[in-house]
Amino acid sequence: MGENEAFLAEAAALLGERGLTRDADLLQPWLTDWRGRFTGRALAMASPASTEDVSALMKLCARHGVPVVPQGGNSGMSGGATPDESGHALLLSLRRMNAIRRLDPQAREATCEAGVILQTLHEAAAAQDLRFPLTLGGKGSATIGGLVSTNAGGTQVLRHGSMRAQVLGIEAVLADGSVFDALVPLKKDNRGFDLKQLLIGSEGTLGIVTAASLRLAPAIADRAVAWVGLADPAQALALLRLMEARLGPVIEGFEVMAADTLGFILEVIPGTRAPIETRTAWNALIEIDLDSADSGPSAQERMEMALAEGFEQGLVVDAAIAANETQAEAFWKLRESASEAERAQGPALQFDISVPIAGMPRFMTEVAAACEARFPGTTASSFGHLGDGNVHFHVRAPMGQGIEAARRWLAERGQDATEYVNDQVVAAGGSISAEHGIGQMKIGEFARLTAPAQLNAVRAIKAALDPQGLFNPGKLVPLASAGPAH
Ligand SMILES: Cc1cc2nc3c(=O)[nH]c(=O)nc-3n(C[C@H](O)[C@H](O)[C@H](O)COP(=O)(O)OP(=O)(O)OC[C@H]3O[C@@H](n4cnc5c(N)ncnc54)[C@H](O)[C@@H]3O)c2cc1C
Repeated sequence: MGENEAFLAEAAALLGERGLTRDADLLQPWLTDWRGRFTGRALAMASPASTEDVSALMKLCARHGVPVVPQGGNSGMSGGATPDESGHALLLSLRRMNAIRRLDPQAREATCEAGVILQTLHEAAAAQDLRFPLTLGGKGSATIGGLVSTNAGGTQVLRHGSMRAQVLGIEAVLADGSVFDALVPLKKDNRGFDLKQLLIGSEGTLGIVTAASLRLAPAIADRAVAWVGLADPAQALALLRLMEARLGPVIEGFEVMAADTLGFILEVIPGTRAPIETRTAWNALIEIDLDSADSGPSAQERMEMALAEGFEQGLVVDAAIAANETQAEAFWKLRESASEAERAQGPALQFDISVPIAGMPRFMTEVAAACEARFPGTTASSFGHLGDGNVHFHVRAPMGQGIEAARRWLAERGQDATEYVNDQVVAAGGSISAEHGIGQMKIGEFARLTAPAQLNAVRAIKAALDPQGLFNPGKLVPLASAGPAH
């Protein structure tokens, strides 16, 4: 029996029939990333049912030297959950571990296993008159383990922070199979290094998150959702600042999108329609939320007041406030369909960038124009979380000669265009990964653009916590030979 066969026989005995498969049809959907950019192969797919299973499996992997690619909902945007083409790695799906172990309405905390789907947590919290204040377009598939491991952001970061701000505790299995149990939600804990914080955003390279305890917020008592047409992103930012000054910390979401992204959505997503008649160059989706402790004017009145002032100041071209929940959901559907509609446009380079907020409007317009001029035939535009200084900046390959020519362009010029945009991000003092992580998609650029002090620390932490290099090889942590030419 070969080494792999011996490993697989032991893994099968450990995990049982439901816990391990080599069936190509069952594996196939999980071997390509959501964007369809990366496809890999795997030795098998393990689906453990408990933390004890994960622990025993990791001990087995360490003994046989089998690398592991953790995977949740496979909705990640950087190819982090897709194994390489060698077929040596075990795909470790956490989806079967999908219990909400505890939901405490008094403490406003939930303890979820890694495989709990974000939408399921939303529904469970809502049933207790609470909410989990983080959402994103992939909420129907993204899991708690994936959200923790990518330190996901989404559309409520402006008010509530990213995943890191929601995590109170973590349970994880480390490289030797030991269980790191820090689930107890301590507000203060200064026992030296905080391994929990290190695991958040580590993209499956330091450990397997098996559960997390999470902060919940009071349910929304009253909300107003508006769709606003604007001339440019500078006006959008000015409107956000005006609303913050007038309304205080009640703005739950402030998302922007260029006219072309809205056009794609209306074209490809069934049942969508434009909320305002005027076709403006830019659009903003704004949500104001009040909880039951908020007294005074309703959310609708506050939205009307702020937008009226925005009109007076020449910031708003046109606006519609959702008349009811159905309309509010329809406005949000537009925003949450942006990635899917962009994907349908064909080959493109996707950047998930952040720059200091004040510099974002200039970046969105000037860098897009400069990019189109430098790479003729491309179109560049952005959508996303302006209030966080984070947008998804897309450069679409020239489509004039058809899709095959566009794919060739991407193969031939994609790297040049990637370096061009990322150099602009760095020049603006920004980050080439605001919320999607590094995965395999950005590992080369991460190595090229990151200072040796940081790269060395990243490699040292990886070597200390995963000395055999078993966790998610080829993701996030660049090889020692890769790095900036200093
Ligand atoms: C339509 C759409 C919209 C999106 N919008 C946003 C957005 O606004 N903001 C945002 O931040 N993201 C967004 N995403 C990306 C994605 O939903 C997030 O990155 C999410 O956190 C991924 O969760 P997942 O369970 O699908 O993880 P996967 O894709 O399965 O994995 C992501 C990474 O985490 C690792 N991982 C997964 N589970 C574990 C675990 N239990 N332990 C250790 N490592 C693990 C994987 O190895 C991989 O590196 C969007 C995705 C889609 C499809």
